[in-house]
Amino acid sequence: MPHAPVIDGFEFARSGAILSGNWQLKDCPRLQSELYATHGTLHYALQGLPQEQGRPALLLSVEGTLQLTCQRCLGPLEFALRSEALLLLYGDEAEIATLAVDAEGPERIVAQREMPVLDLVEDEVLLAIPIAPRHEQCRSREGDVSAAQQRPFAGLRALMGGKR
Ligand SMILES: [Zn+2]
Repeated sequence: MPHAPVIDGFEFARSGAILSGNWQLKDCPRLQSELYATHGTLHYALQGLPQEQGRPALLLSVEGTLQLTCQRCLGPLEFALRSEALLLLYGDEAEIATLAVDAEGPERIVAQREMPVLDLVEDEVLLAIPIAPRHEQCRSREGDVSAAQQRPFAGLRALMGGKR
């Protein structure tokens, strides 16, 4: 049975609670479209902080090795994810909207009574992975062709290039 903890955001922060666990990547529904292959495990640790920059907060760390798809050769690209994020908790969106935008600062999220931890972890992974991952050096041209032929959507490239 998949691991599916749910936390009460403010309560978790105020009590300084700690939670950690693992997910198989195949059990992370929102990550599927980003992955070349779904084998592997994500490990997370979540810590409640009663008072961080004046707010209740969550400190979330996520680690794992993901197989992304290289946007140039469409082959697998191994990505070692290691991310730590401070999430400041607020009562509602309106409260966040009154704050000055701070792109460099911690993330601000709305605390809820029932927050699935998997949602927090998936959000963090989606922010941490590159938007258009590419190998520094793709394999040889011959390798690219055979890799492309094995991919179900390889025909898209031809379609986008016009008639053939
Ligand atoms: Zn590549």
